[in-house]
Amino acid sequence: MSEPTEGVRDRKESTGRRRFFHALASLGSGAVAGLVGAKIVQPEQAEAAEVPASLTESSGTLVLRMQQDLEQTIASGRTPSWLMVVDTRKCIGCDSCTVACRAENPTGPGGNFRRVIQLEQGAGPAAWAIFKPVNCLHCDNPPCARAVPAGMIWKRPDGIVEFDHAKLKGPYARAAAEACPVRLVQIDDGKTFTETTPAQQPYEIRSFVENGQVQTRKKGSNAMNGAARKCTFCSHLLDISVLPACVSTCVGGAMYFGDANNAGSLIREITQGRRTFRGHQNLGLTPRVIYFEEPVPEATHIDCSVCHY
Ligand code: SF4
Ligand code: SF4
Repeated sequence: MSEPTEGVRDRKESTGRRRFFHALASLGSGAVAGLVGAKIVQPEQAEAAEVPASLTESSGTLVLRMQQDLEQTIASGRTPSWLMVVDTRKCIGCDSCTVACRAENPTGPGGNFRRVIQLEQGAGPAAWAIFKPVNCLHCDNPPCARAVPAGMIWKRPDGIVEFDHAKLKGPYARAAAEACPVRLVQIDDGKTFTETTPAQQPYEIRSFVENGQVQTRKKGSNAMNGAARKCTFCSHLLDISVLPACVSTCVGGAMYFGDANNAGSLIREITQGRRTFRGHQNLGLTPRVIYFEEPVPEATHIDCSVCHY
């Protein structure tokens, strides 16, 4: 496999996706079922394999179902086990999720809770690309927590990793950021996009909730200035039965989210019998963001190690 490069967005992506879907179309329905079915099957089994509706339904339908699952979990009162699943074959690299994340969780120009990596394959007219959205993995046994004194970073019973913004500053903030294998901890520099313009925009300094605390990034009142921050799975939304912003915004239907303990949920349906990879298991962590392996023609295997050490 050729060495992929990251962050180049001005070319080839549509070509890559088109080639992939053209390749799918040319395989015929039986083989396609084998490629995208509930489990990875051998070609001779492909005719019998079924394509789960959860992989072909529109993003809006998927979001509605996940929303219903979420409401069911919250109403049940039981402790959920949150899980995010990304199907990179459906990600079109639009970055709508990134924008939605920024809108929901004000961060300013110095940082971001998520990004969409572009992995280029091949070269010249034959080049194509895969898009891979990444955010905090909400690791079980998280390296960031091991890098700072006890009590600064913890896991909620539902699996979400939370930061104490008041304590995670200075060297502790840097230690947490450096320990994160996906480099998605940012240190809030207090800046806003519009602070040097004639009119600083209210949406940049509005109040918002992060890790259960009401915050503002208004200059002089930003208690998170200098603190380590990261994706929270939009826990403030989950607590009121609303999906994370990236999930409800994903136009490609590539983002799945739900309670892994909910037997009838979409998140359980799409992970049953599927090959997945979580990445970074050699570091002793178990992420709660998992990716389907990418059985794409011309790319025999792709995993996080192509862009992260
Ligand atoms: S992905 Fe990084 S910030 Fe998130 S829990 Fe794991 S080590 Fe911590
Ligand atoms: S919104 Fe969905 S399709 Fe667009 S970049 Fe994000 S994950 Fe991919």
